[in-house]
Amino acid sequence: MTRHYNFCAGPAALPTTVLERARDELLDYHGSGVSVMEMSHRGEAFVSIAERAEADLRELLAIPDNYRVLFTQGGASLQFAALPYNLLGAGGRANFLHTGIWGKKAISEARHLFGDVHVAASSEENGHSAVPRQEDIVLSEDAAYLHYTANETIGGLEFDYIPEAIRPDGTPVPLVCDMSSTILSGPLDVSRFGVIYAGAQKNIGPAGLVMVIVRDDLLDQARDDMPTLFSYKALSEAGSMVNTPATYSWYLAGLVFNWLKGGIGGLTAMDAINSRKAARLYAAIDDSALYANPITLRNRSRMNVPFVLADPRLDSLFLEEAEAAGLLNLKGHRSVGGMRASLYNAVPEAAVAALIDFMADFEKRRG
Ligand code: PMP
Repeated sequence: MTRHYNFCAGPAALPTTVLERARDELLDYHGSGVSVMEMSHRGEAFVSIAERAEADLRELLAIPDNYRVLFTQGGASLQFAALPYNLLGAGGRANFLHTGIWGKKAISEARHLFGDVHVAASSEENGHSAVPRQEDIVLSEDAAYLHYTANETIGGLEFDYIPEAIRPDGTPVPLVCDMSSTILSGPLDVSRFGVIYAGAQKNIGPAGLVMVIVRDDLLDQARDDMPTLFSYKALSEAGSMVNTPATYSWYLAGLVFNWLKGGIGGLTAMDAINSRKAARLYAAIDDSALYANPITLRNRSRMNVPFVLADPRLDSLFLEEAEAAGLLNLKGHRSVGGMRASLYNAVPEAAVAALIDFMADFEKRRG
């Protein structure tokens, strides 16, 4: 058995030790005689898995007590719709920062459902190569909340600061963040946010699960016409079990949280590893004549590193040879082309070293 280095943007690499533990527990979970996939979500064994996962996550992110953690479904994309339903009950408009493809999808969904939205700042003018600065963000007078994307997974553009969400009259509004591709990559001040959400399939676990962290005073801001399964309040009151949750994904997420705590030593340690990995790869790109990354230095993503080859005719050869060398899923998103190396938590430093060696060797031979 060989596990290759996997740079997939999502569903992404999982820690090998997590998969080994899942394998060991697969057929007979802790003497229950069944697998986690086969047990009732309301039974004692699963409820204890679910509670452990939440407790570990709370500890990792130091989530304050006035925040609820929801384990729900429908992908991060469903949250693009659930958010305005949950937060526009008292009227007002959804405000957005537009920094790339995912931010735009969130904007389009809110516009599609509720008409008018306000784009408080956009990086469109610079081709999404630098995020708007705080002084360029202008909310509408009727802003109900400000939504932004911490890291544009396709563009490789990451916020280097947490924006302030304040209306022109000085009133603060909830800050809402799509952290699908950065959650758990380092420590986070959760108290700065109204809602944080993330699809699981990058830094949390397998696809099929979405995590929402919501400040409890926002549970009463919802529209009345909302589908029950969108409702943060309903999910919170039912312990994320309004209906059958994605039990196996939830269990695996719990194993990942446990690995982050015990195997890695927490998010400060994870943060340092992630910084090292990204710094090494960007340095290799910047030092070469063949590879290039267009993002302004302060906003280069630590999780997703897109790069192009000076001669795009070499792209398919690069990918072919990389794959032969055991370096998988380096093809850029179909909408932008080029390459992208995703360096999520479970991608080890050795993978980055192997990639850098391969890139240097490829450049020497073909560049
Ligand atoms: N937001 C971001 C930042 C993403 O990277 C993705 C998926 N790549 C999504 C939203 C959509 O996630 P899902 O496929 O879980 O709906």
